[in-house]
Amino acid sequence: MSIFNADLHCHSVVSDGTLEPEALAARARANGVDLWALTDHDEIGGQHRARAAAQAQGMAYLTGTEISVTFAGITVHIVGLGFDPDDAALTAGLRATRGGREERARQMAESLARAGIHGAFEGALKYVGNPELISRTHFARHLVDSGVCSDTSEVFRKYLTEGKPGYVPHRWASLSDAVRWITGAGGVAVIAHPARYKFTANEEFALFSEFKAHGGRGVEVVTGSHSAAEYVTYAAMAQEFNLAASRGSDFHSPDESHTDLGTLPLLPGQLTPVWELLDDRILR
Ligand code: AMP
Ligand code: MN
Ligand code: MN
Ligand code: MN
Repeated sequence: MSIFNADLHCHSVVSDGTLEPEALAARARANGVDLWALTDHDEIGGQHRARAAAQAQGMAYLTGTEISVTFAGITVHIVGLGFDPDDAALTAGLRATRGGREERARQMAESLARAGIHGAFEGALKYVGNPELISRTHFARHLVDSGVCSDTSEVFRKYLTEGKPGYVPHRWASLSDAVRWITGAGGVAVIAHPARYKFTANEEFALFSEFKAHGGRGVEVVTGSHSAAEYVTYAAMAQEFNLAASRGSDFHSPDESHTDLGTLPLLPGQLTPVWELLDDRILR
């Protein structure tokens, strides 16, 4: 089967999405996706369900995750695709990466309380599907539903981002560990939504160079986080660094996400799709 509509980036209730893996699979299929990956943040607990749901929908599947990394003081996301979901080192690495989230969330709530917003930890917890994965998104949902802000993008603009109340700096996994966990489990590592990072040109060059040196092989070019102009910029970066290209909506929720599963433009034709590197890892 040739792949036409691949969507290799989205989130379920196992991290900060609002749909169950089965509902995401059905939605992806309804939107014409023929190769899907669920990429929950720092967590692969949904992989067996997602794989079974994809199979039930007659859709090909690649295992996935999105690992939080700190590089040059900035949070970078590395997507892993096509790994063994039962790999012990990957499982342990992700568990360690999740480990600081509860304490961070308590500190975020204390910071919000100093700004006059009380009870945010308990409030955010009401939206959490996985107790090990409390994220800024859950705080954002609470601040919207309690009337502090009118939508989640306003929350991130006014709170939870650097320099704003509720922001707590956090040290995630190292780039080398994240790439090693993924590749060690038989997968391919992909730089997620590179246009989102506030890097200088030198820092971005360092990210791509070090990522390659550690064994990273892909970059997201067409993602819900990029503009059309950024598709062009990162298509050129993929070619310059000889990286395969990935495509994914980064869908989180029907109520919040502006890009639905399977609805992005196709990858530019001159690029190598990342799934061509993973042909033997695709569950059909
Ligand atoms: P965390 O891993 O807890 O730092 O949360 C990161 C998540 O917050 C991302 O994966 C997005 O889902 C969400 N997020 C970050 N920035 C924004 C933004 N500006 N608007 C909406 N959601 C955002
Ligand atoms: Mn997210
Ligand atoms: Mn991300
Ligand atoms: Mn994501």
